[in-house]
Amino acid sequence: MSTRLFHQRIRASIANESLQAALDANAERRVKGRITALATLPDWRERRQRAHAIRAEVITHLDDYLKVFTGKLVENGFIVHRAADKADALKIILDITAATTRKPLLFAKSKSMISEEIELNHSLEAMGHRVVETDLGEYIVQLRGEKPAHIITPAVHLRRQDVGKLFHEKLGIPYTEDVSILTSTARKILREVFLTADVGISGVNFGVAETGTLCMVTNEGNGRMVTTVPPVHIALMGMERLVPTLGDLALMLSLLARSATVQKLTVYTQLINSPRRLEETDGAQTRHLIILDNGRWRMQNSPLQEALYCIRCGACLNACPVFRELGGHAYVGSDGSMAPYPGPIGSIVSPGLIGLEQFGYLAQASSLCGACKDACPVDIDLPRLLTRVRAGDKKPGIGLSIQSKVGLQIYGVIGSSPRLFSLAQKLAGLGARVVSPFSEWMWLPAVTGWGTSKDFPRPALKPFRYRFHREDIDSLPDTKKIESMGAKQKDQESGEIKNTNENLVERFTQELKAIGGQVYRVTLNNLADSVIALLKERGMDTTLTWDSVPALDENSLTQAGIKVIRTGDPTAKAGITGAAAAIAETGTLVIISGKGQLLSASLLPDIHIAVIHSSQIVYSLEEAIQIKAVREASAAVLITGPSRTADIEMTLTIGVHGPKELIVYILE
Ligand code: SF4
Repeated sequence: MSTRLFHQRIRASIANESLQAALDANAERRVKGRITALATLPDWRERRQRAHAIRAEVITHLDDYLKVFTGKLVENGFIVHRAADKADALKIILDITAATTRKPLLFAKSKSMISEEIELNHSLEAMGHRVVETDLGEYIVQLRGEKPAHIITPAVHLRRQDVGKLFHEKLGIPYTEDVSILTSTARKILREVFLTADVGISGVNFGVAETGTLCMVTNEGNGRMVTTVPPVHIALMGMERLVPTLGDLALMLSLLARSATVQKLTVYTQLINSPRRLEETDGAQTRHLIILDNGRWRMQNSPLQEALYCIRCGACLNACPVFRELGGHAYVGSDGSMAPYPGPIGSIVSPGLIGLEQFGYLAQASSLCGACKDACPVDIDLPRLLTRVRAGDKKPGIGLSIQSKVGLQIYGVIGSSPRLFSLAQKLAGLGARVVSPFSEWMWLPAVTGWGTSKDFPRPALKPFRYRFHREDIDSLPDTKKIESMGAKQKDQESGEIKNTNENLVERFTQELKAIGGQVYRVTLNNLADSVIALLKERGMDTTLTWDSVPALDENSLTQAGIKVIRTGDPTAKAGITGAAAAIAETGTLVIISGKGQLLSASLLPDIHIAVIHSSQIVYSLEEAIQIKAVREASAAVLITGPSRTADIEMTLTIGVHGPKELIVYILE
């Protein structure tokens, strides 16, 4: 297998100063942010172990969980397909859409790494169809004819100037470096795509076996758009992405958002239980789920099985000192094709799924420092798996050269004795100190290989792992302080920890305001006046409104000159909804579909106004998603702040596809 192209990409990445600056900025912010976000979960270490155990249980008994899951999905009205590989998946999609008269078809797609894995866009476009990526970062890389450079931040390699130039050339707008103008341009163009698409395609973050629920998370709202607006929704899911129960889902979500995008919860967490029901007026009428194997069964039966525990948070990429130098585009196979998954996890699953021949050597792009394992929210032993890929065989230890075997045996003896290990470190450090001052000598690269792309560094005063752990621990805020910010308070007399309603309201308000939401406390008597005053102040005279919002009847709005619309009209500037619940610990609203309860009222307008009674606020995510109405609705969405993105140079921009403002009225 030839590594020539890989080495060329490595050299190009290291020489690219703007790429280096972009990767550093991304990694610094994500790594620090992740530590702070995890600190808001005092029991995160214990959660991580539970998450590992849950994923291990699912992967070990994958066949059983898949049977339960697909049975529930069919009961719920989904059309379920099993695809062995990418050709199968494409054939299923073409069969689903064969009856559609309009040709070519327009597919609106939300970000899905599995579609990258099977090169879906390329295949559909080759058949003459139009596929539009709707995540801002994915849209940018699609316009450039590239693949995503990171599994969470696809355009991580670009500066705002690159995007400004791209939009000027491809979309015809005047050149600008203003991220908010670039984002609103994409919003305008992609809104048209959502409204006219024949089919919405999404990935799936988790499938819940006990209920047959699909869970998808997005910050921008494009995931909600593609699953709500087009008449047909096709979801693509890797067969390993299951959790047994809704409680397990809550646990995974609490770790995923903090590890991926340093949030307590992603802005939109969708729980889709079925297609639109007869009495409902929006949501996809038909929902298909394609469960893809594409090498996963083979991995499940191999020593790389643990890599299937991955929940695709991207934290190991940000933590990896090698990825931070290279970026995703450097991870190429022997034929020059880009690995579908880069970084530490990508260097295991890309060869595991697609082939060792093509991607096996990517596992060499690791220092085995262990930073990826430390960052992983499900505690996957990535360094161990990387060494297994390096061994180049399905069974650990088999396939190693004699030299490697002898080397590993020596390492095993040294590594199992703290005294010998410490002595070996000192000797290695001494050797490095002797060599490093000469690394820039012209003759040294020719002899050692060092200096070709970088100098032999002077060793640090303290080992990396020591410094890494100190930083990790030292930067964690005081756990006790965080707990006291919670809604739970100690009863002075009984000493019991309890949630009072007032505490829940306060915590919810504090959390929602921290992420850009607005909260007003009102009574039955002054709710209508407050809402009308707000709409008038914004010059809004049309609202997309649910049939029954507590204490806000249609008469009071129409008498004030505000038109009330009951269908998914995209021109309405404000949407007014009730809510099934709210979550204090994350500042989240829980909206469910139903008769007279348009999902699009909380999605299409610029402003989303929600009315909720204070007694509907619960403390935790786990409590909220177990509520009967949430479990039984065709779709529920957890909304944690206004729509947002940080896809251009990590600049936070509010209002990408969903509402720019989220205003909650809490009824006393
Ligand atoms: S291996 Fe762990 S850290 Fe890396 S993407 Fe998967 S879950 Fe996240």
